[in-house]
Amino acid sequence: MLARFISYYKPYKKLFYLDFFSAVLAGFLELGFPLAVNQFIDKLLPGKDWSLITWACAGLLFIYALNAFLNYIVTYWGHMLGINIETDMRRKLFDHVQKLSFRFFDNTKTGHLMSRLTNDLMEIGEMAHHGPEDLFIAVMTLVGAFVLMLLINWKLAVLTFIVVPLMIWLAIMFSSKMTKAFHQLFSDIGDFNARVEDNVGGIRVVQAFGNEEHERKLFHENNQRFRLTKLLSYKIMASNTSLSYILKRLVTLFVMICGTWFVIRGELTAGEFVGFLLLANVFIGPIEKINAVIESYPKGIAGFKRYVELLETEPEVADRPNAVNVGKLRGDIEFREVGFGYENEAKVLNNINLIIREGETVAFVGPSGAGKTTLCSLLPRFYDVSEGGISINGLDIRDMTLASLRRGIGIVQQDVFLFSGTLRENILYGKMDATAEEMETAVKRAQLEAFVQSLPEGLDTIVGERGVKLSGGQKQRVAIARMFLKNPPYLILDEATSALDTETELAIQQSLAELSQGRTTLVIAHRLATIKNADRIIVVTEQGVSEQGRHEELLAAGGHYSRLHRAQFQN
Ligand code: ADP
Ligand code: MG
Repeated sequence: MLARFISYYKPYKKLFYLDFFSAVLAGFLELGFPLAVNQFIDKLLPGKDWSLITWACAGLLFIYALNAFLNYIVTYWGHMLGINIETDMRRKLFDHVQKLSFRFFDNTKTGHLMSRLTNDLMEIGEMAHHGPEDLFIAVMTLVGAFVLMLLINWKLAVLTFIVVPLMIWLAIMFSSKMTKAFHQLFSDIGDFNARVEDNVGGIRVVQAFGNEEHERKLFHENNQRFRLTKLLSYKIMASNTSLSYILKRLVTLFVMICGTWFVIRGELTAGEFVGFLLLANVFIGPIEKINAVIESYPKGIAGFKRYVELLETEPEVADRPNAVNVGKLRGDIEFREVGFGYENEAKVLNNINLIIREGETVAFVGPSGAGKTTLCSLLPRFYDVSEGGISINGLDIRDMTLASLRRGIGIVQQDVFLFSGTLRENILYGKMDATAEEMETAVKRAQLEAFVQSLPEGLDTIVGERGVKLSGGQKQRVAIARMFLKNPPYLILDEATSALDTETELAIQQSLAELSQGRTTLVIAHRLATIKNADRIIVVTEQGVSEQGRHEELLAAGGHYSRLHRAQFQN
């Protein structure tokens, strides 16, 4: 884990060395000060040489100024190091999340992902900066101060040294406690974010059902849990702070008592006594540094562990090593003995055998939950089949690159997802580098033109989060315009018009019919009237494909389809 963490420093070696050596130099200057005072009292004071004293003071002033400058470097450039590492990690994590498969997102809370990308990484950045620097300086000042103390008076130094094991014990004890507390804290923050995300995302449902009270309760539970965990971590921090304070003062007191005794016995000069006392303070100073590391290290490590865990989550659907880029996708689609289940046990699809000819329009009908959407989501490999295989033009889709496969397939669904941005941005999602002409044609063919012209801002109108400012029909038209731009040879229309009123549905059906011209089209439709003209109708039930044929044939056969048809017709 540590080696992995260190690897993130690689691009910033120079920054690291600059930060590190400035910090080390500042540490050395800190050590020099007590010696200077020692000399001042013992040598300069008795001599009463004013010019020498002035020079000494000027020298000290210079050293203080230098130290101030070094501290600036350490604080600014050191943090820059931390922020750079944090930014790198965040980019890497985001890139990785983009590759994860549908199943991962089915089972992950958005809020948890958000807190990993924000909070966790902030703590890691802090640690990346403070961790190595503080630790090294702590050790350096500890050793440096001790050597100098030995040089002044070795007996007194050895007596003072007794406190070191105590310091180390304290550090270790608090470190493990804090790690646990912060791990819990981070997971609480994740829950928290998930709650807020869920609530705000569904606020219209919450208010429509009048369930604000229920939501408040759920949130407060989370909030309280968060409070308790945070309180616990501060409690640990507080006892750490006061324990290390008392320890430091005890050391000072101890040195004062022993030092006085040594001075009285004539084994120590007054200057050495003061110098030693100051050094003893520098010596126990690292307790504070170590405390700072103790505080940032567990937070950082807890975050880093979660970071690595997510980074190591392999995308379930990914390119095979020898996957081919198929260029323009074409040819017949063949489902061979396809079986699929979302969870291991429960199968949604069984033994599906189908051939869809290039250019054909095939309609899937069947009861809700039969697996029509699932069947269609296997084609762009949103999920991989559990059994059998799907091929296009004789090539198994798992042997194609995901990018080239998905470039060739367009999907229009019932609930259109629009990004919060402008109409233009949302349409361009179909083809990021579309020209103005292509854009115009797409808008026209999707019959969006009149709507766009009625808007004061035209295509630059903001659609609101998930497109709340548009009607269902308008959103559907945006999705169709997108698809005209994308221009895929294969098209899946999954209940594209089911949520619309009859009039809008009819209008949109025209656009869809135009869209499916010259493409292999898979239509899932609820209302049978909309698929009468399909080349072939396939009835999917939980047992698999139960019947297929043209509308008239299936009606005449008097099977499942004719029963469905009769039921709808009566309505
Ligand atoms: P249809 O489109 O025919 O109405 P679906 O393909 O949407 O049916 O669903 C088929 C079955 O798979 C249903 O029982 C549904 O509960 C289940 N299902 C759909 N999506 C998921 C998912 N992401 N995770 C787990 N189960 C799912
Ligand atoms: Mg469906």
